[in-house]
Amino acid sequence: MTYTRANHGPAALPLLGAVLLAAGLCAYPTRALADAPKDAWPALLRRDLARVAHIEWRLRGAAGTACPRQAADAGIAFDDRRAYQKRDWPLLATSLKMAERPVIVSVAPGSPADLAGLHEGDEVLAIGGVPSDTIIARRNAGSLVSDALLDEIGQAAPGSALTFDLRRDGAVLHVAVRPVTHCAVRLVLFTDRKVEAHSDTRNVAISTGMLAFARTDDELALAAGHEVAHVINGDRRGAPAKVRRGMEDAADALGLRLMECAGYSRATGITLFERLGSRDWLGFLRARTHRSWKARTESLRAMPPGTMCLSTTCRTGFNACPESFSRR
Ligand SMILES: [Zn+2]
Repeated sequence: MTYTRANHGPAALPLLGAVLLAAGLCAYPTRALADAPKDAWPALLRRDLARVAHIEWRLRGAAGTACPRQAADAGIAFDDRRAYQKRDWPLLATSLKMAERPVIVSVAPGSPADLAGLHEGDEVLAIGGVPSDTIIARRNAGSLVSDALLDEIGQAAPGSALTFDLRRDGAVLHVAVRPVTHCAVRLVLFTDRKVEAHSDTRNVAISTGMLAFARTDDELALAAGHEVAHVINGDRRGAPAKVRRGMEDAADALGLRLMECAGYSRATGITLFERLGSRDWLGFLRARTHRSWKARTESLRAMPPGTMCLSTTCRTGFNACPESFSRR
């Protein structure tokens, strides 16, 4: 989970930094209803970061070895003021106590970071004995500090202990975390009021507008699962419309299975497509590559229950049963 720097005014535009999400395969041509109060955005954004990070942890686990690449995953997300405009730093310091060092903003329940006792708000001094400033400089992170730290964790040897040096309430702690191997796909949150999710061949981008629109995490997991499915299937732009439709149908089907394998509810999640359909009743904003929301909803409802990930173990830690999920 990471966050891309953006302006936060009414004319906010995402600046996608090093994560180039050029392949906008999926469009949700509506706008979120809710607009945040102007001065409350740091806290709301922090909440959104944690929400997406929890879904990312579960979907990455559910995808298991189906993804083209795997990486070590601790179930943790970071934030850092360098991801924001400098003019916002004083506000971030007062509202989120965010200063020079990166901080942990999410610890997914049941994850290695959770089991090891890491907390939201912990300041990250070092990972694996390497100071966070060194990691950031070595990886030439710029504003993408969170990505650099996640990349560092991602390269950890499976099953080995990675020591986190943290500052919590003024005390320095040394905590050993044992990351697990998961699908390497990452969910990137970007600030935009449009209800949008898209993917490139490596990562998934979700707008803050989508988070405001999604009433439940099940709905959000359906949208994110669809995009993770595009990554797994290696879908790219540029194919003829008929081929793209086939890609979309496959991503709907695989995305549904992923979100169910991750422990989310199909019945509650599918309402996302229904509600999007009700906001696009003429359908004229819909891309030719996508079938109607109604048709997509009906297809998903008609899919047989998942037979490849019935174990409750898979729902909480998919690495325990990596063979039980298949894209076929
Ligand atoms: Zn799609």
